Amino acid sequence: MTKYVYDFTEGNRGMADLLGGKGANLAEMTGMGLPVPPGFTITTEACRAYLTAGTIPADLSYEVDTHLHAMEIAAGRKLGQVDAPLLVSVRSGARFSMPGMMDTVLNIGLTDDSVVGLAAWSGSPRLAWDSYRRLLQMFGETVLGIDAQHFAGALHAAKEAKGVTGDLDLDGDDLRQLTARYKEIIRAESGRDFPQDPREQLDLAIESVFASWNTDRARTYRRAEHIPDDLGTAVNVCAMVFGNLGDDSGTGVAFTRDPATGAAGVYGDYLANAQGEDVVAGIRNTLPLDRLADLHPGPYAQLLDIMRTLEKHYRDLCDIEFTIERGTLWMLQTRVGKRTAAAAFRIAEALHAEGVIDADEALRRVTGAQLAQLMFPRFDGNAAARRIATGVAASPGAAVGEVVFDSDTAVARAAAGAAVILVRRETNPDDLDGLIHARGVLTSRGGKTSHAAVVARGLGRTCVCGAESLDIDPDVRRFTTADGIVVTEGDVISVDGTAGVVYLGRVPVVPSPVAEYFEGRDVGDDELVRAVDHIVRHADARSRLGVRANADTPADAGRARRLGATGVGLCRTEHMFLGERRALVERLILAADDAEREAAIAALLPLQRADFVDILSEMDGLPVTIRLLDPPLHEFLPDRTELTAQAAVAKALGRPATSERLLRAVNRLHEENPMLGMRGVRLGLVIPGLYDMQVRAIAEASAARLRAGGHPHAEIMIPLIGDARELEIVAARASGILAEVAAESGVDLPLEIGTMIELPRAALTADRIAETAEFFSFGTNDLTQTTWGFSRDDVEAAFFPTYLAERVFTVSPFETIDRDGVGRLIGLAVAMGRAARPGIALGVCGEHGGDPESIRFFHEVGLDYVSCSPFRVPIARLEAGRAAVGDDDGSVDSR
Ligand code: PEP
Ligand code: MG
Repeated sequence: MTKYVYDFTEGNRGMADLLGGKGANLAEMTGMGLPVPPGFTITTEACRAYLTAGTIPADLSYEVDTHLHAMEIAAGRKLGQVDAPLLVSVRSGARFSMPGMMDTVLNIGLTDDSVVGLAAWSGSPRLAWDSYRRLLQMFGETVLGIDAQHFAGALHAAKEAKGVTGDLDLDGDDLRQLTARYKEIIRAESGRDFPQDPREQLDLAIESVFASWNTDRARTYRRAEHIPDDLGTAVNVCAMVFGNLGDDSGTGVAFTRDPATGAAGVYGDYLANAQGEDVVAGIRNTLPLDRLADLHPGPYAQLLDIMRTLEKHYRDLCDIEFTIERGTLWMLQTRVGKRTAAAAFRIAEALHAEGVIDADEALRRVTGAQLAQLMFPRFDGNAAARRIATGVAASPGAAVGEVVFDSDTAVARAAAGAAVILVRRETNPDDLDGLIHARGVLTSRGGKTSHAAVVARGLGRTCVCGAESLDIDPDVRRFTTADGIVVTEGDVISVDGTAGVVYLGRVPVVPSPVAEYFEGRDVGDDELVRAVDHIVRHADARSRLGVRANADTPADAGRARRLGATGVGLCRTEHMFLGERRALVERLILAADDAEREAAIAALLPLQRADFVDILSEMDGLPVTIRLLDPPLHEFLPDRTELTAQAAVAKALGRPATSERLLRAVNRLHEENPMLGMRGVRLGLVIPGLYDMQVRAIAEASAARLRAGGHPHAEIMIPLIGDARELEIVAARASGILAEVAAESGVDLPLEIGTMIELPRAALTADRIAETAEFFSFGTNDLTQTTWGFSRDDVEAAFFPTYLAERVFTVSPFETIDRDGVGRLIGLAVAMGRAARPGIALGVCGEHGGDPESIRFFHEVGLDYVSCSPFRVPIARLEAGRAAVGDDDGSVDSR
């Protein structure tokens, strides 16, 4: 027979799956000898059985009998007895806390008879009738499903009849009459009388808690919190104690440390002569907990002692609910307390310093997401601000600035000292300068992997994208919100990239001392910064994964280095072909013959060499993986529609078309699916001179750095390889060029040549590719796109909301690695790559390289490093360490 019920004396905190968080902790406290009222917990397994069968399991009633009897013996009173009745509370309690989502019924056991007994025992008819009317109301609403308005209406009428406004103005007699009215409501609305058998009340309350697991709001909450639907809730049945028996009674909540800041000390609130629900409801003003020292010195000293015991026992911040009934202290709940990100770091560090936990445990107690929160400047939460749009929270932070609608204006205004927000329908590589000079970016199209989002994250700029309600008109330099507010160029807006919200006007910003510290600026002696520093350093000591950065410019590379990157894992070379160099690329594309093409390429060589010299000096001594050109060539040419229109106009007016040659080239290069078109190595094979030039530039830059006494460590990476042969061709040419430059310059150039693995075919043939590739770097952006077959630029707004709601996935696969699909391909490629070339270096440089959950996967699958945007380097360092020390020991309720 399955055991469905555990007395508080039988369980412990390791049994949270079965007893729920609340039940397990009540049992733990009982086991520790702390003053917990007697009670028992009905398991989540019983709930699951109920939800499957639709009825209460057959043996449950017998078990409840047995445990109820034991509880009555412990309490020395019987449930609902007329004289000094025992009352019980029935509360839900799932494995993960779901505050307020499920049912609770208090004062079970009160009947028309026992209410009189309670009045006599408590010496307060008001208390007794108030408890009874609360039971009728709670029971009516939750168990019998009666609309709360009926009870609220009757209460209101009672107050009106007496000419008073507060609940407390109703005396015992008024409340007695109100209970009669409540009973009528129950009869009229549910077609049955309120049960006068306490045991029937109990059974119905238990069933209603079980059923409340599946209410819409509980389901919605679980979806938002990623809590599985099949866990079920436990039910805790506990003897009631009363904090409202007079001035020697009261109730409160307490924390063993400040959950907001993490500061040491005892924090909490106390409410004299009240029940727990009154504290939560905020009906009366509470007192700070330390006032209890004067009011009830005995129970206060006992409470402090218990709090010390609990913190030592749980080795963490505990939050506590307690009640004092006529001078006697009772513990009603404890759990490892929720805390802010700042408190998480300070508490972990303090507990480590106090010797309560070791350094590994301190590392487990914090998360990369918490560190990310601490690194962004924030908007001052107290400021009043008008929200004008919401969108995808694409790159976190808080940015305030004047609106500009194009890149050139962004650069010009920034040069004049203005903080600007670049507002575009969507961005493209031409906007890079604008993005660099803007504080924030706002777009009306695209998701988390749109151009604006990826570049903004890379640059550490705040970005909200896909704010679809905005009508952006760059031609007239204004946008209009859904409410019809018109924002014109120069107006100030505030963009919250952490929440995905846009505000009108200037919202005050609070800078992050943690980010300032990582950037190498002096922040004085700040306890939080010290805690973060210690914990991240420990993570470095423990992690097996290296952390590199994706950086395309010397400035980014320098920043990444300050933030602790051990190299550049991806230096994209695309942007090096923009700006004034675009003309050269245009010449290259339009070249009539080989000679013309080679001349254009030759002109690019010194520029590229200078780029690489700069970045290699910034990263002297550290590896820099330089990726050869990737995007489709037509991206470097003018817009096709515009050119076509110009040509048509010229023709109609009988004028010679100035750009016919250009238009022909644009048409020739136009692709319906550029992401699947002539990108990456395909380009390199079709125009071999282009990659030759890049390889030579890298080689010459390395030689120059060597001759200058530097320690350059460039690696050459080929994008979008699908077959080993592609790589063989490019690698052979590259090796030849390296040898040439080595001979010319008289230095050794043993540069490694490797590849991105970003197509399923590359992953599936990784063994063959590894015969040539000296390293792999997983391009998980393209690998996700091509494995799923959906476009990284278009789908997030189009159908991801539906997919998330339908739980095709619980998080965007562009954000967190899809372990089951993309992850499997990676695992396969890792195994095949290593088998073919033991010691092959393996990394990842897609956006997932900075995502905490994905970093855990990359650790597990055995990569050597992750590469992420510079700003995320500390976060990745922390998560790499956390992955190495493994899961927590069960003492932390991370939700
Ligand atoms: C990738 O595909 O994951 C990658 C890093 O390359 P890009 O984003 O430049 O295509
Ligand atoms: Mg790619």
